[in-house]
Amino acid sequence: MSSPVHKPVVYIISAPSGSGKSTLVNELLKKVSDLEFSISYTTRAPRGSETNGRQYYFVSRPEFEKMIRDREFLEHAEVFGNYYGTARRFLHDAEQNGRDLLLDIDVQGAAQIQHKLPDATSIFILPPDRRTLEERLRKRSEDREDVIQRRLITASREIENYDRYNYILVNDQLEDSIKALRAIVRGERLLRAGQPLSSEEAKTVALAERCRLANVRDRLKSILDSFKPPGDS
Ligand code: 5GP
Repeated sequence: MSSPVHKPVVYIISAPSGSGKSTLVNELLKKVSDLEFSISYTTRAPRGSETNGRQYYFVSRPEFEKMIRDREFLEHAEVFGNYYGTARRFLHDAEQNGRDLLLDIDVQGAAQIQHKLPDATSIFILPPDRRTLEERLRKRSEDREDVIQRRLITASREIENYDRYNYILVNDQLEDSIKALRAIVRGERLLRAGQPLSSEEAKTVALAERCRLANVRDRLKSILDSFKPPGDS
């Protein structure tokens, strides 16, 4: 009987849509070894160049509901009127393959995973302010105006959950954000290994520490304020 020797580090990444999360996640996966992306199941239609089995597994509502009944999901949630879910088998496969696992999920899914896997490392990506988020959503031009407005309202709500996450990454300059995200992932591995750190490794951990929730509170205030309706302080 084979027993898994590897306990994967599970990284949860959440962000309001338009925060640049997909770009960051793709860059991270290119740069960090032994990190598996959990491809979610969704009932939404593919966008642009998305293909089945790469960004998502695209399934019908009845198929998704059957998977819920068969308890195939580690977590699932309804986001923007569509189902999204993380299949349990990705965690199992990561254990067997000695790899860590990256989940790109919304705040509801993150809460479910944090409950089931309290050791998971959670990262919340924020835009520098509301105006930048709105510009990014428009530039993407994949969505209709009413969808953009809905996403902005959802973003304001999601952002209120920032303090449930271990790390906060403000995605202002892409290159800096990639470095910081990579440092968070590597830093967690180093801290969990519990070995003495080389000076290079200590720098990585220090860079990650700058994104710890407790260390970004000052910067957060102006971002959160930019999402408040005018006159609401
Ligand atoms: P999009 O449709 O823009 O790709 O994703 C919409 C939202 O669904 C994003 O916040 C994304 O993180 C979230 N999402 C993607 N996959 C999952 C999943 O498996 N579970 C949950 N709870 N949310 C997901």
